[in-house]
Amino acid sequence: MASKMRSVRILLLIVASAWPYGLLRAQSPPRLDDAAIEQRVSKLLGQMTLEEKIGQLVHFAADSSNGPGTARTDYREQIAEGQMGSLENVTGAAETNALQKLAVEKSRLHIPFLFALDVIHGYRTVFPVPLAMASTWDPSLVERASRIAAKEATREGIRWTFSPMVDIARDARWGRIVEGAGEDPYLGSAMAVAYVRGYQGARLDDPQSMLACTKHFVGYGAAEAGRDYNTVDLSERTLRQVYLPPFRAAVEAGSATVMSAFNTLNGVPATSNWFTLTHILRQEWGFPGAVISDYGSVGETIAHGIAVDGKTAARKAILAGLDIDLESNLFSPYLAELVRSGAVPESAVDQAARRMLRIKFALGLFEHPYTPEPQADGKPQLDPADVQFARRVAERSFVLLKNTVSGGKATLPLGPEVRTIALIGPLADSASDMLGPWRARGNAADVVTLRTALTSRMQQAGGQVLYAKGTEILAAANSSFAEAVAAAKQADVVLMALGEDSLWMSAEAASRAHLGLPGNQQQILEAVAATGKPVVLIVFSGRPLTLSWAAGHVPAILQAWFPGVQAGPALVRTLFGDVSPSGKLTVSMPRSVGQEPLYYDALNTGRPADDVDLSRPPGNNGEKYHSRYVDELNAALFPFGYGLSYTKFSYSPLELSTSQMSASGLEMQDLVEPASATVWIGPSSAEGESADFVIAK
Ligand code: BGC
Repeated sequence: MASKMRSVRILLLIVASAWPYGLLRAQSPPRLDDAAIEQRVSKLLGQMTLEEKIGQLVHFAADSSNGPGTARTDYREQIAEGQMGSLENVTGAAETNALQKLAVEKSRLHIPFLFALDVIHGYRTVFPVPLAMASTWDPSLVERASRIAAKEATREGIRWTFSPMVDIARDARWGRIVEGAGEDPYLGSAMAVAYVRGYQGARLDDPQSMLACTKHFVGYGAAEAGRDYNTVDLSERTLRQVYLPPFRAAVEAGSATVMSAFNTLNGVPATSNWFTLTHILRQEWGFPGAVISDYGSVGETIAHGIAVDGKTAARKAILAGLDIDLESNLFSPYLAELVRSGAVPESAVDQAARRMLRIKFALGLFEHPYTPEPQADGKPQLDPADVQFARRVAERSFVLLKNTVSGGKATLPLGPEVRTIALIGPLADSASDMLGPWRARGNAADVVTLRTALTSRMQQAGGQVLYAKGTEILAAANSSFAEAVAAAKQADVVLMALGEDSLWMSAEAASRAHLGLPGNQQQILEAVAATGKPVVLIVFSGRPLTLSWAAGHVPAILQAWFPGVQAGPALVRTLFGDVSPSGKLTVSMPRSVGQEPLYYDALNTGRPADDVDLSRPPGNNGEKYHSRYVDELNAALFPFGYGLSYTKFSYSPLELSTSQMSASGLEMQDLVEPASATVWIGPSSAEGESADFVIAK
């Protein structure tokens, strides 16, 4: 075995020793429930009327109407009267300070106000989307990116972000797969901790710290058929083993708040789910922070069929353990009446208000409610060091899926002999799409596109770029194909920048039933590839796409996700080999939509198809009655953990300690101990062929 293994060329490796040991162990996170804070909270609560306590549990989104049947979007009066505790989507020091002044000076008890925003992957310096950042497998990068986001957001009055999204996602149809870390609970937990540490810093009362809000509790990623907001039905075992661990890790890292999910879980809406909100989160984990509903989700429990009207919805949510009503406007009109009628004990309102006040005290808002306003010379600019860091994170997030070797030369990196490059595709120069979904206060004007960066590089080298957009992301007209094909014919190499629309097709309410390149991008890819020129396909997307045709016909494929403000420079440096791609997939890439949900750690079936030749259609030769498709392979096109680099690694001599391993032989410590190494190995790569990989330990 050892000699056989010696001849094996190792194409790719993941060394578990690079994994920081003890990553998930709490590093004394900032405490919410310390005795001094509790004393202050109790004293304040004692002075509050029932209505004032309820006011702390009311949250709205600026510019949205404050509840069914009203068209009000001006919240000033409510803030001044203590009828609201927090608001999202107002940014800017002057703007937030003006509202804060109402809370602090006009409201009876002068309780400061809290401003929130979905700061998901950067505030103004936009980093790669979370799925891309997870592909770095490097929580320290995520922690630093989140710290930068906190620095920028707090400068504009935001002390609360609705991030991280830690939903495990195993179905590429679900648009929100882009917002999380992928399919693995352990990696998801590590990333969850990194975000929380980055946002909250070492101390919550540091003016540059903001509250994390870990979401969406819980099971949201398991929406049936990958359709957003759909029903979730999970066994308690899967819930605890797969979906809860990243939440628990975030809570242990001190996440001050949690957001409940839109979905039902085993028939009960997550927003009114006592089992998850109270039994697991509070009783089992001792979570001291506040739980906010998702947008309008208290009201949605009526559509779920568990509440007959708004009053019932409010009652069920608060009794289940929900603290803050986001935009349903149901706590505000009904809670006082529910308490007075005895349907809700006042202690439930006290408890929820206590949690909200705790986080306000912990943030130091009572001492420093205002944000220093910038000098008259304008808004804060991007910090060049942060921009450079954004480029580095993008470089680390790209996943090289294919790189054909032909005539002894790999397609990538591009060498000095490349004088003319055809750059084709609707994403080559789309600054806005590079920001991805949930771009906070990102500005397309800050983005350097692939076209800009490539043109500058080629000009410096005395070469040229022939740019042709070729088509739109979603349109079906092929009138510009000819120009693209003509450019390709004149080029030494063709770069094709194809993929998804970052807003329409990615994140919330962006589920897809088809996972191919949208519009007529597949057709333009085929038309350009037919020129016979070497094509490098750069895929911009917020999810795994089905790239089977490309994998069979295009010499090189780079998965670029949505890379953020430094998309162009990061890509150009990668394409020319200034840096080597090192990202690894955290989601399985399917061959066909029909394989979804697809994930690496699926349980065995009683009829595993491991020993069946899946490349042949099943005949009556015993190959049919296995857990398989009759028209597709079982395996992912590119599996979890996959990603090539420009370097080849040779490991020798390799020995397997055993050819079989029992379940008990693989303990958790094997996965985290610095000494253990997991390598992905494959057969020597023949020219022009991609290899399948196996894991050896
Ligand atoms: C999303 C949440 C987000 C919230 C902000 C909702 O639609 O599901 O992820 O934090 O809006 O209000």
